[in-house]
Parts: sequence; C-alpha cells; structure tokens
Amino acid sequence: MKTRPSFVCWQCERTFGQVVDLTGEPVLLLECPYFGAACKVDLAPYKQRVVTVTRGEGAGPDAVHYELPGRIPTSEPGDKTPAQETST
Ligand SMILES: [Zn+2]
Repeated sequence: MKTRPSFVCWQCERTFGQVVDLTGEPVLLLECPYFGAACKVDLAPYKQRVVTVTRGEGAGPDAVHYELPGRIPTSEPGDKTPAQETST
C-alpha cells in the first residue's frame, strides 16, 4: 500500500511529501530533501485495525489501515540510544 503523505522535518521544520510504502514495518527512515537530514517516522500510533465483519476467509493480516494526519512529524533517528561516555 503506497501513499504520499506530508512529513515535517524534525531538523529544519519544513514540510515535504514523499511516497512511502505502508506495507510491513510502520517505522520509516526518510531523508529531508532540503538539508538531507535523516528523519525517522513511526507510523504505529496512526495504525488502525480494520474490523471486517465478513465471516471466514477474507480477514487477512493485511487488513490494516493508517489514519495519517495532514502533516506527520518526524524525529531524529537513533535518539533512543544517546551516545554516553562512561569512564570506568
Ligand atoms: Zn530538513
């Protein structure tokens, strides 16, 4: 499933559109077209499970829908592991 939402660069705060494939991993790594900053996007909060009422077949694991806002904020990649110097 491909779509072209707008992302807001975490660094320069500019908005840019990019085609992304929403199949599989909800975490995207994009590159800001203005300054080349790497932008990490976690789409997991926008994920919506599509409840299918049909019985039996048809309700596959791909029945996932993303409710994306008009402008999706991004974050700095690798911010979960800050480089800390330990002196032992
Ligand atoms: Zn930028």
